[in-house]
Amino acid sequence: MADPLHELDSAAQPLALVHDAAAPYLASLATRPVVDPDAAKLLDGLGGALPETGTGGPETVERLLGIGTAAATASSGPRFFHFVTGGATPAALAADWTAALLDQNAFARISSPLAHEVETVALDWLRQLVGLPDGWGGALVGSATFANFTSLACATHWWGERQGVDVADTGLVGLPRMPVLSGGYVHSSSRKALQMLGHGRNTVEVFARDGVGRVDLAALERRLAGCGPAVIIANAGEVNAGDFDPLADLADLAGRYGAWLHVDGAFGLFAAVSPRSRHLTDGIERADSITADGHKWLNVPYESGFALIREPSRLGRAFGMPGAPYLPGPQDPAGGYGLFGPESSRRSRAMPIWATLAAYGRAGYREMVERHLDLAQRLARLVDEAPDLERLADVPLCIVCFRARPHGVPEKDLDDLNRKLGADLLADGRVFAGTTVYDGKVALRPAIVNWRTTATDVDAFVAVVRSLVARLV
Ligand SMILES: *Cc1c(COP(=O)(O)O)cnc(C)c1O
Repeated sequence: MADPLHELDSAAQPLALVHDAAAPYLASLATRPVVDPDAAKLLDGLGGALPETGTGGPETVERLLGIGTAAATASSGPRFFHFVTGGATPAALAADWTAALLDQNAFARISSPLAHEVETVALDWLRQLVGLPDGWGGALVGSATFANFTSLACATHWWGERQGVDVADTGLVGLPRMPVLSGGYVHSSSRKALQMLGHGRNTVEVFARDGVGRVDLAALERRLAGCGPAVIIANAGEVNAGDFDPLADLADLAGRYGAWLHVDGAFGLFAAVSPRSRHLTDGIERADSITADGHKWLNVPYESGFALIREPSRLGRAFGMPGAPYLPGPQDPAGGYGLFGPESSRRSRAMPIWATLAAYGRAGYREMVERHLDLAQRLARLVDEAPDLERLADVPLCIVCFRARPHGVPEKDLDDLNRKLGADLLADGRVFAGTTVYDGKVALRPAIVNWRTTATDVDAFVAVVRSLVARLV
């Protein structure tokens, strides 16, 4: 096979193969191990020299499906508790295929009125889902890292205005350092965003009052009082235990001292979906920018983050590309989201968001979030009841932070034991969770955000962990 034009008449054939593979793969997710250690050798089948003559679409896709369905990490299944990782709802997955089928460029209205309109609706539905007032706007981006980048770019532009400079035009040269203040929950991706924006990741000044990282409001306020316009980064849902910074207190400080308040709610923003957890996000409506992820608790496929901005016109000022005569400008009716965020040409990542919200609605998401809240409490209870496990933190949301603490093992040996446990868990592959260091102690921190996860999976997780602990002592 050479020129793809030879497949003009059979272009849908490889798609049919994907369709045929879908049902058995999706059905297998409930029980398959997260990783099959024996499948690793299949990855060799991807390599070799670049083919001179290709094998054609159907044969190639068959090969990819063979390797893929065996060697994939089943992170879209119900037993993947590592990081904070959602799956893909049935409607979102099918809409993602639709987005690939239609292959729209969601750069601007002129490139695709369809993609533009779906994105406009999806952003507004997300705003409504989390209860933000009318007038907020946003940008769909590839990830929460890019949502932090987008938000902090707007913050940078805002701060530049206070220095009398349009930093989108002339950059940061000659300006003092932009003060960035945070508690200890600040996520490494906010630091990465600051490093990409030219502030440097070490620009964050951390005000923590304990080893967990809880914010020291008094110290942060003293610094705010002395530093002029500043950016505060708050976390709605930190990754170790799902805890929240006191957003209302930080919003008060931002108001009092004229600071920009950015909230990283990559997964925690979805606490606002349930009346049971909404209080954790109180005050978030007074933020200037918010980060969240669609590929976590919303359960849409990668790559799906979003930034919500209180004054959406700031996006065009920070990300517009004036001066290219063949492109529309930010205010041009032919323009669109490619001028309101870091990417220009982009896929229609709004389609899965639109579809999942249309399919399951506000009530469906509330029900799912509340199921996960219940499952996190169930997991906490199982940990509390197990004599060989010790919970290290409260469980306000969907993460349970705990460690193994078998009888007779001295405290000084527990970090090593838990590191070993974490490695054994990943090598075992039946369930997945990662380790962290919480208040100086090595711990596991399973997170529950997958729409498929049920009590059976949580019980299986605890059973696997305890069986591995038993082998360590
Ligand atoms: C996951 C996460 C991020 C980064 O998200 P990506 O989508 O992987 O870029 C940022 N902040 C928090 C709190 C997170 O949980």
